[in-house]
Amino acid sequence: MSQKGTIGVTTENIFPVIKKFLYSDHEIFLRELVSNAIDATQKLKTLSSFGEFKGELGEMNVKVTVDKEAGTLTVSDHGIGMTADDIDKYINQIAFSGAEEFLNKYKDNANAIIGHFGLGFYSAFMVADKVEIRSLSYKDGAAAVKWECDGSPEYTMEPTDKAERGTDIILHISEENKKFLEQGEIDLLLKKYCRFLPVPVVSGKEQEWKDGKYVDTDKDKVINNTEPLWTKKPSELTDDDYRTFYHELYPGQDDPLFWIHLNVDYPFTLTGILFFPKIKNNFEVTKNRIQLYCNQVYVTDSVEGVVPEFMMLLQGVIDSPDIPLNVSRSYLQSDSAVKKISGYITKKVASRLEEIFKNDRADYEKKWDDIKIFIEYGMLTDQKFCDAAMKFTLLKDTDGKFYTLTDYRTLIEGTQTDKDGNVVYIYATDPVSQFAYINAATEKGYNVLLMDGQLDSHFIGLLETKIEKSRFVRVDSDSVDNLIPKEEKKAADLTADTRDMLTNIFRTQLPKVEKAEFLVEFESLSPQANPVLITQNEYMRRMKEMAAMQPGMSFYGELPDSYNLIVNVEHPVIKKIMTGAEADLMPTLKPLFDATRADNESSEQVRKSAKDGKLSDEDSAKIKELDEKIAHNRNEEKKAATEYASAQPLVRQTIDLALLANGLLKGEALNEFIKRSVSML
Ligand code: ADP
Repeated sequence: MSQKGTIGVTTENIFPVIKKFLYSDHEIFLRELVSNAIDATQKLKTLSSFGEFKGELGEMNVKVTVDKEAGTLTVSDHGIGMTADDIDKYINQIAFSGAEEFLNKYKDNANAIIGHFGLGFYSAFMVADKVEIRSLSYKDGAAAVKWECDGSPEYTMEPTDKAERGTDIILHISEENKKFLEQGEIDLLLKKYCRFLPVPVVSGKEQEWKDGKYVDTDKDKVINNTEPLWTKKPSELTDDDYRTFYHELYPGQDDPLFWIHLNVDYPFTLTGILFFPKIKNNFEVTKNRIQLYCNQVYVTDSVEGVVPEFMMLLQGVIDSPDIPLNVSRSYLQSDSAVKKISGYITKKVASRLEEIFKNDRADYEKKWDDIKIFIEYGMLTDQKFCDAAMKFTLLKDTDGKFYTLTDYRTLIEGTQTDKDGNVVYIYATDPVSQFAYINAATEKGYNVLLMDGQLDSHFIGLLETKIEKSRFVRVDSDSVDNLIPKEEKKAADLTADTRDMLTNIFRTQLPKVEKAEFLVEFESLSPQANPVLITQNEYMRRMKEMAAMQPGMSFYGELPDSYNLIVNVEHPVIKKIMTGAEADLMPTLKPLFDATRADNESSEQVRKSAKDGKLSDEDSAKIKELDEKIAHNRNEEKKAATEYASAQPLVRQTIDLALLANGLLKGEALNEFIKRSVSML
């Protein structure tokens, strides 16, 4: 009894569609065929366990055989097999609904088409000119059957002489797909898609080293680990098991920091293991990603949208039959089951971290520097995770001590609350260059946090919104007395003349510093504080840092940094400079200041007297003349100040000391400073 027929698809011809549109993804044919073989094997095992199949199971593996001479690739199993009726039902009648429309919509996505139609088997035609099925069903008295199709919608089906139960799918590989006749290529594909399948998959032979080269032995090569770690009970596993499995997944990596074994059966089924890797560089982050499996069949490692964004930094496997195997990623992202999975994983990761934190705080602290990037990234990108993580986020101070957010607040609340009731968190980003500031702050009884992580500048912003009445200031953003303003800032009590004179003195003595701008200010700090300080306004600095991180805004990075040069008028040395200058410089400056003031006033008068805001030619000429006078006098002031101040080594010395404390004194200026210091000794 032989049968001829047309494959029951409503679209005229499915094969050109498959060949044309599925070209880019065509390696998945092997995954599809091996998955079918595994399913057939599993089904028979199930029937046997229920007593519905009473025969011998025998060896239940799946074999992938390359025959280069014959030009065939064969996938064989010893599963349930198919009768002629089965083939008719499952292979010949492909249920199509809305085929045309769907094909158009997903024509660029092979996975979607194949999955939607249950066309796994037909993906074989992506690489084969002709496909044969030889099958013997497990059913009593079943006859072996052979089905053949050359890629047109016509097939033939006839009895055959297969004696062993199960199915062989024989692919006559087409000319342009010859690479699938190379054992090496097949090994690669099997390793990618099948390495954790639940039934042994054998392909090729084990090799051994003999006479200077590798040669095949008689032993079949099993390519998969049928019981990957995530399918086992956590209670039966040791830390070493997890580490070994991690290295099996990602060879050549350092040991992972932590792992989380996922195991849910309600409201969806999901197992898996997530690893927190020790990140050494960004390249590894993008290379070694989480892999998605569906019943131990590899689906993808493009997990954007499936796992929460911050988990893109984690590694490991997630296996869920609820993750649709054959759909596009955009579909995956919008799938409600997938969304739930993502939410679940977030919760699970948070609770596991909390558990580790509670159970072994010492170990957690030891690993904090390495895991903090995950936690901060998670908090910045995921609201729910952020809320949960507030409990196990640590702050580290410049002495290397760790605190929870609550403990830290309790620690500093008493000493570091400002006049408006805000608790001020002081932080350093570079303990070496900011050493002097850290030292001054700790001497004053403040605690200084170390915030030197990649994400810390963003993280600080987040903490300010999360912690009520809190403010973060970098340790060098103001003089130590003003870091935490307890009362209104004490502006230096100086007359306008003295202020102008001092400004001239200090401004003219500032050496040129590459990419830096200074604003001279005067404050009444304590006499014990440094005579001159350099600070960087917290707000301005953050703006610049943020802008520099935005793509396209890098010109901000080119702008000079602006600093405040704070002169402490209570310091004895500054007092001395002031007294000296009042006696020797002020007599020269005073008439200039007075003249400038008078000229400014006159200029103002002229402007005011203009009718309807319009200046007459005469008025304009007057103003121009006054402006020139002012400019001239300013220049004279500067000249006098320069001449005077350059003969006062103390001025330059106090400035240089402040620059030195900030690592801003370099090259020529540093050399001068050293010489001057030596001569002062
Ligand atoms: P799907 O696997 O998505 O159902 P396929 O086109 O891959 O779609 O297969 C169609 C059907 O053909 C399967 O559901 C199964 O019943 C049958 N089948 C395919 N391969 C085998 C096999 N190796 N052994 C037994 N049955 C098979």
